[in-house]
Amino acid sequence: MQRHEVLVIGAGLAGQRAALAAAQAGRNVGLVSKLHPLRSHSGAAQGGINAAVGAEDSVETHIYDTVKGSDYLGDQDAIEFFCTEAGSTVVEMEHFGTIFSRAPDGSLARRPFGGAGFPRTIYAADRTGLALLQAIYEHLGTEEIQTYEEWDLVELVFRDGRAQGVVVYNRRTGEFEGIGARAVVLATGPAGRVYSRTTNSHSSTGDGIALAYRAGAQLKDMEFVQFHPTALLESGILITEGARGEGGILKNASGERFMVRYAPHVQDLASRDVVSRAIVTEINEGRGFPGGYVHLELMHLGKEKIESRLQEICDFARNFAGVDPVTEPIPVLPAQHYMMGGIGTTMRGETNLAGLYAAGEAACVSIHGANRLGGNSLLETLVFGKQAGIAAAAYSATVTDGTVLPEEIEHAAAPVRAMMARTEGAEPLPLRAEMQAVMERRAGIYRNDADLRAGIQELFALRAKRATLRIVDRSTVFNLNVTDALETRNLLDLAEVILAGALARTESRGAHARTDFPTRDDAHWMKHTIAGYNPLGPQLSYAPVAYTRWDPKERVY
Ligand SMILES: Cc1cc2nc3c(=O)[nH]c(=O)nc-3n(C[C@H](O)[C@H](O)[C@H](O)COP(=O)(O)OP(=O)(O)OC[C@H]3O[C@@H](n4cnc5c(N)ncnc54)[C@H](O)[C@@H]3O)c2cc1C
Repeated sequence: MQRHEVLVIGAGLAGQRAALAAAQAGRNVGLVSKLHPLRSHSGAAQGGINAAVGAEDSVETHIYDTVKGSDYLGDQDAIEFFCTEAGSTVVEMEHFGTIFSRAPDGSLARRPFGGAGFPRTIYAADRTGLALLQAIYEHLGTEEIQTYEEWDLVELVFRDGRAQGVVVYNRRTGEFEGIGARAVVLATGPAGRVYSRTTNSHSSTGDGIALAYRAGAQLKDMEFVQFHPTALLESGILITEGARGEGGILKNASGERFMVRYAPHVQDLASRDVVSRAIVTEINEGRGFPGGYVHLELMHLGKEKIESRLQEICDFARNFAGVDPVTEPIPVLPAQHYMMGGIGTTMRGETNLAGLYAAGEAACVSIHGANRLGGNSLLETLVFGKQAGIAAAAYSATVTDGTVLPEEIEHAAAPVRAMMARTEGAEPLPLRAEMQAVMERRAGIYRNDADLRAGIQELFALRAKRATLRIVDRSTVFNLNVTDALETRNLLDLAEVILAGALARTESRGAHARTDFPTRDDAHWMKHTIAGYNPLGPQLSYAPVAYTRWDPKERVY
């Protein structure tokens, strides 16, 4: 059996940064990923990464903007640490070779982003994620790290009160194998595919979050789901907030710049939850275009600026919506974009389970609270990926080698073999689509008691189908239908947690907007939702928010 001192699952920015930190601490590190590292969703990030650099901006304003953006649900101690680390993190990535865009004087170029009091989003045109991912991937080559590419994490193994390693599915051979570890870092990324209309890649299925949940980890604030205001109408492909940062404006069917009414001060650059709700309200009140969408106009920025700063956006609009942003408006509609919640961790990436760490979008520290600011999550992957790697390395020096027993491998493999043996039952992708339809219908931008209750019933009904899940493809080499089944199982669990948390939270805060409880209720709800696993359904409890200096105020933009 393979063994590592620190085993990182996920090779996006968070996983690679954690692996680098653990290797630099002298540990033997393994890195498991179901995708080639450079295909991780981090590579799809467009708009940029936040850091208060330069004399006019300040860490203090970055902290304030993040606290306010979180609608006062973010932990202020964590936010202070996070923003303080931002400058050195971005400079380090530049030293690793990230080719950031430049201002005319040669300094790092910065663009305005939603909810930010200062233009502090540093970017590489509109391909920032890929630029960062390539740089760290090349740098990781300087360490000896064993990678397991295109292996699926199937189960986390705990024994004697601590993590012992994982069971993985080797796609190349079709075998289930154990990898022993003293410490495991989960950096498995987003769970956006709980919804059908999402900007997230097809691989963003929340595997690590669901597996940690089933193993006893506490999930935090899962009801807070960010919908990005501007995704292409048909495909849901993201049109970066950078497009509005560069001066793009939203218009309704009468040609009105409607954001003036919703956010008089910053208009199109209000926080994402505010802009998404405004778009949906315009459409619901009959001011959208037929079929339900609004326009994002860039034409006034001129061909030169559009094609240099927003190259990828041009390609997406031309190829996937058939419009040329230089001469025509882009039809857009909000889509699921980011999960504020995840595996609850400390600032050092520790979970409530010994030897298990988490970082990146799979984790919830929490710095985003009820609403994440654009540009803060690329930064989160690097700041807290590094912390998790350091903490896992330190912990690994205090315990003996982890081992995965044959019966533990069998325990993980048996249900999958049963799915392969079945000749009748639900197929993974159609079942996933049914779940996604429930989530779109019942837990979108606006929520209410009746919808959420109905959604819970509908998901409960899908449990019977889930019990009959069937893998149709029987091959043992690169059988992606096995991956489909594993992912669908994970998504179904997370969908239940989102609905349960959303039903219980009888207030509107950040991205969680209840039409039946339209205001924020600090007296009762200034607290984190914690979800624990129970076979009958999620068990909810609550935990306090960490405060330092910022008293809750009404959030206006
Ligand atoms: C289209 C888009 C644009 C964005 N733009 C920005 C932006 O401009 N600025 C910003 O700050 N944020 C942006 N974000 C958010 C940000 O990019 C993500 O939150 C962040 O990159 C997530 O990084 P990660 O390392 O946590 O996960 P990922 O990059 O998704 O990596 C997850 C890794 O886990 C692996 N994995 C998952 N499940 C398994 C499994 N079962 N077994 C083995 N391996 C597994 C995958 O192979 C992958 O390597 C954007 C997000 C999207 C979707």
